[in-house]
Amino acid sequence: MKEKIATLKKEKNAVILAHNYQLPEVQDVADFTGDSLQLAVQAKETTADLIVFCGVLFMAETAKILNPSKKVIMPVSDAGCPLADQLTPEMILAAKAEHPEAAVVLYVNSTAACKALADIVCTSANAVAVVESLAEDTVLFGPDSNLAGYVQRNLPEKTIIPLPPGGHCYVHSEFTAEDVEEARRRGGRIICHPECPAEIQAAADVIASTGGMVREATGARVWNVFTEKEMAWRLKKIYPDRTFYAKESAVCHDMKKTTLADVLRALEEEEYDITLPGDVMERARGAIERMIAVSG
Ligand code: SF4
Repeated sequence: MKEKIATLKKEKNAVILAHNYQLPEVQDVADFTGDSLQLAVQAKETTADLIVFCGVLFMAETAKILNPSKKVIMPVSDAGCPLADQLTPEMILAAKAEHPEAAVVLYVNSTAACKALADIVCTSANAVAVVESLAEDTVLFGPDSNLAGYVQRNLPEKTIIPLPPGGHCYVHSEFTAEDVEEARRRGGRIICHPECPAEIQAAADVIASTGGMVREATGARVWNVFTEKEMAWRLKKIYPDRTFYAKESAVCHDMKKTTLADVLRALEEEEYDITLPGDVMERARGAIERMIAVSG
């Protein structure tokens, strides 16, 4: 399968982008693996004609928005993000009516229809820098309330209003004080994603996006990785001489829907095509490009 994928990729001038949470077999055939920001930048800069996006829907939508003339496909049609689905355009419009003075900052884990209503988008890697760059003191921030809290703690001079209150990712919000205790007994440092609850962030040694984890991992030999479990596999691949412990139940089921067979079939049949209304793409593109300009 890997050989067939390589041949088809060449024939069709395709690029395979995979998120850090994808199955190892999928990461192995990807041209680029990374976090949401890194994948957005890769999608914007690629010269390929066909982008095969191995991740969840909002990520493939972002790739399409940044490359409207290119064909962007997802190997499975129903890989979504339950966090992104917690926020609707109606919620944003209602919050804007209540707080007309506020800027709207949306985490990249949001639907294209929501991004079209944002002033600027952010990822977990650049959320603090994005909010800091704004002139507004009040910010409507969604959909992840744990990331909103992280931004608030880093920028106490701003007022961050989580939208919706309590928005969360089920994978990251299941990390508990018992996980911290177990990690402390085992030894090594704890590195956690800012989508984890505030008490886990407070107990961790380092808080980082998945891209940040790749950079931070040089700082110790043993790590307890508090994010989706495949991140530990990716870190081990990059740093084979270090130890990374994952929480085996921290699984994003939508990220695991894409298999190697799906990638091959997607390349053969060029499915499933991502399509979005032109006006939504145009407005969302402005918000994403403003983020890319801030984060460099
Ligand atoms: S890990 Fe959480 S935020 Fe990331 S895609 Fe899965 S459900 Fe969405």
